[in-house]
Order: sequence, then structure tokens, then C-alpha cells
Amino acid sequence: MSDGIDIMQGSDAGAQAPAPLTCPVCHQPVMPEYYFCPNCGANLRPRPLPTDIASQIGLYAFSIILPLFVFIGISKWQGTRYYRSADPKEHQIGLIAWILLVASTVVIIYLMYVWTQSLIQSSISSINADMSL
Ligand SMILES: [Zn+2]
Repeated sequence: MSDGIDIMQGSDAGAQAPAPLTCPVCHQPVMPEYYFCPNCGANLRPRPLPTDIASQIGLYAFSIILPLFVFIGISKWQGTRYYRSADPKEHQIGLIAWILLVASTVVIIYLMYVWTQSLIQSSISSINADMSL
């Protein structure tokens, strides 16, 4: 915990040279501008997100289009109409559509849960890596 001075080690080696950092995984010296350790490939810091105009337009366009697709998808869904049909075959089709909808929703919720958990875990482990420097 108390040996966090590794970061400052050798900072007087040259005025223009950036202070060397130590890889949290293999403890080899790495340059502060590196995103990955050249020795073991460990992720040293997150890549900056692109902020150029093309990336911005793409994100904004997707933000506008995505809810429209969701709305069109919901409004076009015929599952309830099939399910309520007096015809046994149409009713069965509606039932299968409902089962698929529920199963897909459960899978998406599960994947979101797993994704959120891995995000929390990776942020915890990166905090731990910072503490152990
Ligand atoms: Zn390393």
C-alpha cells in the first residue's frame, strides 16, 4: 500500500523525458503514454473515445434512429393479435411469438446484468491495480 512512490522513481533522469511508470501486472517499466504494456500486454489505461466530427455525427444519428426502430418494432409486432385469434393455428403462432419475446427479453436482461457486472469488476480491479503500484 505505502510503496506508491514507484510512479515518481527516476523522474530526475532527464528533464524532457516523462517519468517512467511500472506495469501493474509484470512490474516492468512502461512509458506513461502507452495504452498497453509492451512486455505482458496488460491494459494500462482506457483508450480515449474518438471525438472527431464523423464519430459525433454517427453517434447522434444512431441516438435518433435507435428509438425509432424500437417504436416501429413494437408497433408492428402482431403477437397479441395472433394470440387472441379464435383460429387454433393463429393462436399457436401467437403463443410461440410470445414465448420467443419473453425468452429474448430474459436473455437480454441477463446479458445486460453480466455486462454490468463485468464492468463493475473491471473498474474494481483497475482500482486495485492502482492501489498496488
Ligand atoms: Zn506488463
